[in-house]
Amino acid sequence: MGIRNRIRTHVGRNPNPITAHTREAHSRLAGANVTVSVCPYCAVGCSQLIYTKNGRIIDIEGNYDSPISGGTLCPKGAATYGLVNNPDRLTTVRYRPPHATQWEDRSLAWCMERIAQLVKQTRDASYEETDTNGTTVNRTLAIGHLGGATLDNEENYLIKKLWTGGLGIVAVENQARI
Ligand code: SF4
Repeated sequence: MGIRNRIRTHVGRNPNPITAHTREAHSRLAGANVTVSVCPYCAVGCSQLIYTKNGRIIDIEGNYDSPISGGTLCPKGAATYGLVNNPDRLTTVRYRPPHATQWEDRSLAWCMERIAQLVKQTRDASYEETDTNGTTVNRTLAIGHLGGATLDNEENYLIKKLWTGGLGIVAVENQARI
């Protein structure tokens, strides 16, 4: 039997080949809230669409309206969903005391206090108003800061303001530029 005859035979048996199940099927993104965002990884700044339902992210994809990326994401940006929904993601602060071999869970408040105390102590001990030539430098060379590529623009702005302008730290870098 030729293909045309087979199609005619099928249509003759069932004029509506779309089942009720197919009619009710829809994308899992249907009804989700969509938020336009920027990929957290690098300075290209590809735009992303973040889909959420009931307060949870259910998908992240490229934004077709972006003049930068036109809906595309590189493999790293395309895996952003895995960054936020990864069962292996650490959700507590991990601390390894000096000379210890085991990591310990600590509260975020304890960690922030510890970092603040060490920064203050180190800056007080190393701050230079002038260098050996008498030139005003107002700096410390004893502290460095390395940011992660998932820091957003606002966080990087505040880091640069606080570390460099506020505390005189010179070595402020970001993993994305290394
Ligand atoms: S999708 Fe890739 S190229 Fe685009 S901003 Fe993210 S990491 Fe950079």
